[in-house]
Amino acid sequence: MPTYSIKMRASKSGKHVSGAERILPQQDISRAVSALSERALHHGLGRADFINVKIEEIQPGELQYLEALPVSARPAATVEGSYAIMRQILGELGLAAQADKLVALLRSVHPMRGAVLYDLATDRCIEPDHQRGIRVTYMDAESASATGSCKNHFREAVVLATKVVHAPGVIAELCMSDDPEYVTGYISSLRHGYVRLTPLKEVGNPHGGRIFIFDSRLADAADAINYLEKQRVLVRGLPPERPLNADPQQIFAEELARLKEKSLYRSMRTIDSPQSKYVKMRGRSVLLLASNSYLDLADDERVKQAAAQAALAWGAGSGGSRLTTGNTALHEQLENKLAQFKSTEAALLFNTGYMANVGIISALCDSESVIFSDEYNHASIIDGCRLSKARVVVYKHNDMRDLEKKLQTTAYRKGLIVSDAVFSMDGDIVDLPRLTALGKQYHVLTMIDEAHATGVIGATGKGTVEYYDYACVPDIIMGTLSKALGAEGGFACASKTIIEYLKNKARSFIFATSQAPATLAAALKALEILEAEPRRAQRLQHNVEYFLRCLHDAGVKAESPTAIVPIVIGNEAAALKVADELLQQGCLIPAIRYPTVAKGTARLRVALMSSHTEAELKRTAQLIAAAMKKYAGKQN
Ligand code: PMP
Repeated sequence: MPTYSIKMRASKSGKHVSGAERILPQQDISRAVSALSERALHHGLGRADFINVKIEEIQPGELQYLEALPVSARPAATVEGSYAIMRQILGELGLAAQADKLVALLRSVHPMRGAVLYDLATDRCIEPDHQRGIRVTYMDAESASATGSCKNHFREAVVLATKVVHAPGVIAELCMSDDPEYVTGYISSLRHGYVRLTPLKEVGNPHGGRIFIFDSRLADAADAINYLEKQRVLVRGLPPERPLNADPQQIFAEELARLKEKSLYRSMRTIDSPQSKYVKMRGRSVLLLASNSYLDLADDERVKQAAAQAALAWGAGSGGSRLTTGNTALHEQLENKLAQFKSTEAALLFNTGYMANVGIISALCDSESVIFSDEYNHASIIDGCRLSKARVVVYKHNDMRDLEKKLQTTAYRKGLIVSDAVFSMDGDIVDLPRLTALGKQYHVLTMIDEAHATGVIGATGKGTVEYYDYACVPDIIMGTLSKALGAEGGFACASKTIIEYLKNKARSFIFATSQAPATLAAALKALEILEAEPRRAQRLQHNVEYFLRCLHDAGVKAESPTAIVPIVIGNEAAALKVADELLQQGCLIPAIRYPTVAKGTARLRVALMSSHTEAELKRTAQLIAAAMKKYAGKQN
């Protein structure tokens, strides 16, 4: 089976962006080429505008196999400490007399893409072209995957170092990274292996380079250069992905670079105005179609006034946890209101919805429990399950037959079925009648997360139980104050017994300073408004229907019975482009990507508000259709 060398060089406006090479069997060529070009097109240094891929066959006899150098790490406290270690190793190689000179040379090598070839016999740098240096190519790790588009600098460095010290006449290599953020380098030799040295320079220093220490008394320089530049080499037995004692900062920096390559890097955009249907971004007013403030209450005058008054009357912070000094009449008033609103015996506040899910689930379940969890449940539910140490059985999304099958075939002493009420990335509604019936039949607790249901579904916006005409009630209703209610915080509504139990067991409740007065007052006022003005929720429900019709008319497929309207694009990079284009056009609808949703199901997640007008919704639907045509190739 023939082997091929694949080399990719990419640049942007004439400047080098990315370079990589592989040695692979024929069947891996196309996957490798595609992975390498992806890398060049999504590089942290910018999208390449020129990509050169060279593919050459390698004859069987041409390929040399080498065992990877053994790797060790010699971290030092200071740069000078690292150079002392380098000098010591040079001394052990019989180069004590030249050590100072070599170290000085390494520290002064000017940026060149290749390496210096330093000849011990003549004490001179003998690379034929000082600008270009010696470039080592035609090498790879034996088992490198064809599709590994992510550069692993460490493994690539060991491959190169292994090849270099096998070149005729080469005694050792000194290397210092030219990345200003990466202060690491190495000294390698057949005798010491690959010795990782750090720090070799201060952070921010862009200098770097490599020196091949050569002895022309042992071999001809032309032979050494020919070997380094032409010999096809596969390196076997590479160490694990990371060196020992890897610099922790570097580990994180590498992971961030990987996320960027895969279009999965996350960053924040800044909004310079209150959360309402129009927000200011960089001086521009944009239409917001992604807020959880579904009823536009975060910026409601009455809600803001209530928060301001509470801050003046009660102070800025609560000063303690609920069980110590942080329990006020406001907390209790809001809990009573929530219990009445959700028609349960009692309620308990948490600082956030996330903390509510984590606290409730980890309090109610333990290692003897089994939790039946919908595959699309929110991350905070998943984290609560993990924290509880219970066994988790994931059932197919909103598939009550699958849930029942799993209830029948799983042995448990204590059980909990937990589900989003309105699924946060898909907008669909849990089959609560069936879910609660199964809970009763199989003697397990039932819990729903109403983060996106409260204020959104049900004839007057009271949520899922109202949506199903009060025909079914779960044991625990978890919810948030941070979405339709426009404030911040989470809650559990349940029987008195469960609420008392949570007060005693839920660690995110017990060990956190309680919510601030302004937040509580804002949520109380928002609840009051929601009850007094059911038309807000009804207007939101109308907007959903209207927007779906507009999307349909514009040729965009989308469905949702709630304010969350997902428009699936698939490819992560395409979803980002569509979202960018929409922002250019004045609409803020972020792209949602893995790990929030499954890989390859990246989407626009539109969230509607009761205050959006029909004209705004119609225009948005048309803009989405146009952006998708332009960047997502075809309609979804
Ligand atoms: N559950 C669901 C379904 C959510 O979407 C969210 C927030 N995105 C939460 C819980 C967490 O709520 P909070 O933002 O109040 O912490």
